[in-house]
Amino acid sequence: MSDCIFCQRDRLEIIAENELALAFKDSCPVSEGHCLVIPKRHVATYFDAGPEEHSAISILIGEVSRILNRDLSPDGYNIGANVGEAAGQTVFHFHIHIIPRYRGDVADPRGGVRKVIPNRSCPLRDSK
Ligand code: 5GP
Ligand code: ZN
Repeated sequence: MSDCIFCQRDRLEIIAENELALAFKDSCPVSEGHCLVIPKRHVATYFDAGPEEHSAISILIGEVSRILNRDLSPDGYNIGANVGEAAGQTVFHFHIHIIPRYRGDVADPRGGVRKVIPNRSCPLRDSK
């Protein structure tokens, strides 16, 4: 799709690819090494991709983690997709965020992606 930024491959800093998927650096990284993995085909959300694309994306997520482990040695990862405006999606070409995490990057990391809605921590597991 010509007006989609993720379809303009020459503008992306691509770090890995396979037949159906691409991995590139996020231009506004949440943490050092933040990458996105997308299907090469323009589809809007996670649920619009087919099983072969999901498989290719999954393989590429593994490759990206090996590259980031080698280059940055993160202590953990958050991996996930925003699906729809209500969930925070801003670019409507399906992408998976790979966000490397580093010990001490936030005061209390417990709960991770649960914290997309603040103040809903599970008292026994997510907070001190
Ligand atoms: P969303 O909010 O849709 O889940 O995530 C969109 C992501 O795309 C954000 O993390 C944002 O920083 C990234 N992004 C937006 N525009 C560009 C761009 O032109 N190039 C790259 N590489 N990433 C972008
Ligand atoms: Zn696109």
